Amino acid sequence: MGFKLDAHIHCPIEKLDAALSHAIAKGLDGVVFTEHDSDAPFCTIKRFGLNGWDVQETKDPRVLRLDLLRDDLKGRIYLGRGREVKSKQGHILALGTSSLIPTRYSWEDTLKYIYDQDGIPVFAHLFGRFSGGCGRNVFMAALDKFDGKVIGLEENAQYFGSANHKSRALANVFGVPLLGNSDAHGRYGEHYLEIGKLHSEIEVVNGETLFDDLKRVMLTNPKSIKVCGEYNTFGQTSSWWVDSLRKNGMSKVFGSAYEAVKGLIK
Ligand SMILES: [Zn+2]
Ligand SMILES: [Zn+2]
Repeated sequence: MGFKLDAHIHCPIEKLDAALSHAIAKGLDGVVFTEHDSDAPFCTIKRFGLNGWDVQETKDPRVLRLDLLRDDLKGRIYLGRGREVKSKQGHILALGTSSLIPTRYSWEDTLKYIYDQDGIPVFAHLFGRFSGGCGRNVFMAALDKFDGKVIGLEENAQYFGSANHKSRALANVFGVPLLGNSDAHGRYGEHYLEIGKLHSEIEVVNGETLFDDLKRVMLTNPKSIKVCGEYNTFGQTSSWWVDSLRKNGMSKVFGSAYEAVKGLIK
């Protein structure tokens, strides 16, 4: 059985314990918390530890080994460092990066920053047009410009139907690795329970060398990565939007709807 990894999760600091415990209960082996333009969860746990957990550094400063020591639940999970960068054209996961990547830079500069840190760029929800997907043209240009470098696509549990199907089709055609990610947004109610809802199973990944192994598999055997789990139905995505509306207030949601309409008529 492969290493089970969810490499796209948002979680506030106060829910990290609950989210990680749930990840262990679900059988995940590794997670990467990818806040927007921030790696605060990783840095906080590295610096302050986590109550009820034994937190150890590994030889790779981008990976922590966490052992849960609670009486009712024990287990180990690896925590990787990363973030979700908002580039000018859309969202790009920067897995295994260890320092700041400027926000609102072009996709090209964003990828350069990621590669300079030996990181792994993954185009988040590429076809999620209303929520920061970079779109097909950017992806095609990136493939061309950074030929031979590691680059990934994802299926994202917060989307239903065609957005994920299109990413899968593109990955198949170009032999690009496709990850399965939950994109759980832990600040909404109990959304952290969706950690691992969609995840990847990756052969021969050792948690201690998570990013080196992931990069090698992505480059040499991309088709061996299995996307497991499920993604949202239309109803679940709708309820996510309602949660978002309640949390962010009407103006923000209407603001993004306005942006979406602008994008359509552009
Ligand atoms: Zn995103
Ligand atoms: Zn996200």
